[in-house]
Amino acid sequence: MTAPETRPARTRRAARPVVVIGGGLAGTTAALRLADAGLEVTLLESRPRLGGLAFSFRRDSPAGALTVDNGQHVHLRCCTAYQWFLRRVGATELAPLQRRLDVPVLDAAAGRLGRLRRTGLPVPLHLAAGLATYPHLSLAERAAVGRAALAMKRLDPADPALDGTDFASWLHRHGQSARSVEALWELVGVPTLNARAADSSMGLAAKVFKTGLLTTPGGADIGVSHAPLGDLHDILARAELERAGVRTMLQTRARGIAPAPYGGWRVTADRRTAQTREQPEELDAGTVVLAVPQGEAHRLVPDGALPDKDRLLRIGDAPILNIHVVYDRRVLRRPFFTALGSPVQWVFDRTVPSGLTGGGQYLALSQSAAAGEIDTPVAELRRRYLRELARLLPAARGANVVDFFVTRERTATFAPDPGVGRLRPPARTGLPGVLLAGAWTDTGWPATMESAVRSGITAAREALGSTGRAHDDEPPHGTERRAAAA
Ligand SMILES: Cc1cc2nc3c(=O)[nH]c(=O)nc-3n(C[C@H](O)[C@H](O)[C@H](O)COP(=O)(O)OP(=O)(O)OC[C@H]3O[C@@H](n4cnc5c(N)ncnc54)[C@H](O)[C@@H]3O)c2cc1C
Repeated sequence: MTAPETRPARTRRAARPVVVIGGGLAGTTAALRLADAGLEVTLLESRPRLGGLAFSFRRDSPAGALTVDNGQHVHLRCCTAYQWFLRRVGATELAPLQRRLDVPVLDAAAGRLGRLRRTGLPVPLHLAAGLATYPHLSLAERAAVGRAALAMKRLDPADPALDGTDFASWLHRHGQSARSVEALWELVGVPTLNARAADSSMGLAAKVFKTGLLTTPGGADIGVSHAPLGDLHDILARAELERAGVRTMLQTRARGIAPAPYGGWRVTADRRTAQTREQPEELDAGTVVLAVPQGEAHRLVPDGALPDKDRLLRIGDAPILNIHVVYDRRVLRRPFFTALGSPVQWVFDRTVPSGLTGGGQYLALSQSAAAGEIDTPVAELRRRYLRELARLLPAARGANVVDFFVTRERTATFAPDPGVGRLRPPARTGLPGVLLAGAWTDTGWPATMESAVRSGITAAREALGSTGRAHDDEPPHGTERRAAAA
């Protein structure tokens, strides 16, 4: 584990205190950034842990005690803000990046394994060799993919016209076959956007493909945590918040934000304690950062903060389903793979992070854009997915299933619908001292950990700007330069 980027908690506390509401990645980032700049910060989180949508829990499994992530998370080398977060909490080595992009892609019908890989050559040549040998597309399809990628490279993801267009229509206009969409564009697009191409804003799709694959050679190298998410986003983050001087109040739900009698804002909250069921709290602050999901932000944001706050309610949610299978033996040799021609999307080996011992193997299937299956009963999912895994992995055919369970996140991400861009508000609102953060705010990124951390950095920068304090602008730009060189 690397030593966290510690900065001594500063003693200069002249500016008025800040209350950050929401202890997901966005709120935790904002709190850390503001405390690092010397402000007095209180962080309110309604749950008994930090981490928001990216967390872990304990399960007493027939396979023994497991630490389970609510959903498999990956990041990419281009996620420079999230990498800053990992460094800041001392977790870089727990979530390492591949040296070079390498994704095993198994075609279920043909039983054939291909690889999506890059070389060390400059963009766009870094993908040329990998594409030339990618067996799941014909020669003509591979050439058409190359032409579309070059057209994509010329797009500006922030162009409002792209936001109103859907990704599938753009792919169709650029000569992409149904097979190319399945075996390449959606293979990357569905897990990163959490939507099929027809349901995705072209602006967000362009953001993903340009930033990941078409700007720097190493942008899409994949990072997977070797530790439970809770170690990174809760345990290590909480220790760093404490070290930075942040007062973190768990099990504390903000109920309202109103003008304080002598200026600034008064946050009312309910705190659950061991003794009392709920204890009211009142906190006065010069600045409030609202880092909660969009529906909760709509409820809490004071009148006058947004020109049309009902727009927040038009930002939809999209589900992700994770299917967890523990086998009594090893059935997969690779750390992860993805499948074509199968309901199975991405499969990850979670044996080590879960703490499973005894020679078995724990696989997590990450199923994005899962609206069709999010309410399917466990028994049916079990039948469907064990059969599929046996089809994809010969070693699974003779293995015993020790445990099978599912985690359902109905509001895993905001829905990246065409037109969503104009609904996402910036950090700064119309009220001085009221700021918004969250993966769903206007970061230009789809709903990712990167978007969440970026939003927290932006909100902190706005808050510091309004207090006249200089902000430390080192991260994440320093890492962007390193990513460019990779
Ligand atoms: C299953 C799954 C898989 C995913 N996979 C990936 C992936 O592979 N890569 C990736 O980059 N991203 C992935 N994501 C998305 C990523 O987890 C989110 O975009 C990110 O964590 C959102 O962080 P946030 O801080 O914006 O919001 P949240 O995590 O929603 O945090 C908001 C916090 O506010 C708290 N809160 C709400 N109301 C109140 C209140 N009134 N008072 C106090 N606290 C309150 C909530 O409890 C929560 O902790 C995935 C998400 C899920 C669910």
